[in-house]
Amino acid sequence: MSFAVQALTRSLNVFHLAGSACNNCDIEILDALTPRYDLERFGIVLVGSIRHADVLLLSGVFNKKSAIRLQHLYEQAPKPVVVVAIGACACAGCMFRESYNWYGKISDYIPIDAYVPGCPPKPEAMIAAVAKLIAKLRGS
Ligand code: SF4
Repeated sequence: MSFAVQALTRSLNVFHLAGSACNNCDIEILDALTPRYDLERFGIVLVGSIRHADVLLLSGVFNKKSAIRLQHLYEQAPKPVVVVAIGACACAGCMFRESYNWYGKISDYIPIDAYVPGCPPKPEAMIAAVAKLIAKLRGS
């Protein structure tokens, strides 16, 4: 296991970016971080800068303008960074897939490491995804 992967499996700093989300996914992400679900007990904390992030959480769909911003943000993230698509919109476009301003799948312009489907996904699904991701990074 490389040093970078070892670092990722300890405490994770998470940066959340919403595209054109309807906000339900964002509310569920915040819910996962509240004391009820308490993602912080796994050492997972929300950070305000992509430069401090180990994980980039994405919700909603991205149009041409916001997709370019997302690419810039991804470039600024320290590597390796784990990218997680939260919700059906971020995973595959959901009901906005045929929309005039849909810029295509996020994976067409930055790599995605994990998908958490649902509209919106429950906090339990996000916690399960994070646990699986950590197990995968540890190679167990
Ligand atoms: S997946 Fe559903 S809940 Fe999440 S942003 Fe899209 S429409 Fe809203």
